Amino acid sequence: MLGSGSAGNSALVATDHCKILVDGGLSARQLVLRLERCGVAPDQLDGVLLTHEHGDHVCGLEVLCRKFAVPIYANALTAEAIRCDGVLDRHNNWRIFRTSSEFSICDILVQTFPVPHDAVDPLGFAFHAGTRALGFITDLGYATKMLIERLREVHTLVIETNHDEKLLQNDPHRPWPVKQRIQSRHGHLSNTAAASVIEQLLPGKIERLVLGHLSRDCNTPELACREVRALLEQSGKIDMELYCATQSAISPQFRIGETKSGPFQPTFETAFFQNAGAR
Ligand SMILES: [Zn+2]
Ligand SMILES: [Zn+2]
Repeated sequence: MLGSGSAGNSALVATDHCKILVDGGLSARQLVLRLERCGVAPDQLDGVLLTHEHGDHVCGLEVLCRKFAVPIYANALTAEAIRCDGVLDRHNNWRIFRTSSEFSICDILVQTFPVPHDAVDPLGFAFHAGTRALGFITDLGYATKMLIERLREVHTLVIETNHDEKLLQNDPHRPWPVKQRIQSRHGHLSNTAAASVIEQLLPGKIERLVLGHLSRDCNTPELACREVRALLEQSGKIDMELYCATQSAISPQFRIGETKSGPFQPTFETAFFQNAGAR
């Protein structure tokens, strides 16, 4: 996790052969800096993959992609929404895919699925490489059945624990409609809601949890971890690895599994994408 929270989100998913940036919601400067600390130069990225068009997920991409011609993978509505805002309208390396489709970026198989959130066509992902998988869900009001099915296969899960329900209710700075939006079925997962999603996945392959997208005013890593750890203790899964990502610092590198070493044979998979081109 390069950074995660209500003010900006970006993560690096990588194998020996492939480097994917998931969202680019930090400043371009911070993205470059934090990638560098992970030993990755921006022009080494094989693509930027977008969950949805909200500013805290895309705000650094205009500048980053002007400097480096990185392909942007997004569904059509998300790409359209971003370009309508006049952002990235000169970017000409879009790889447009259908929601719920799966495709490969080098040796990573990307499964996409819709999540309920107040954006045009927001997504969650499952990344498969070798025999292991990573689930990625931030920005969702609740977990659909289909999403749970997809995530039963993953070994590491990145999941949002956006707010503590009491802190949100008592927050003096947020007007009522904003609180309602956050708590709605198209808003964000509270610590409690995230714990109940995790509970449904415990019979699966899950062995590591990375919490993220914490609200700055209505949550703390301690509260989020406490809520999830309570569930793990209740369920006899105290050995589960648990980490809470933050806004200001890069997380440790999480090793999810092994992929085949040696040179990767590229395929013609990219023909799958219609290139939306420059407008
Ligand atoms: Zn967000
Ligand atoms: Zn959002």
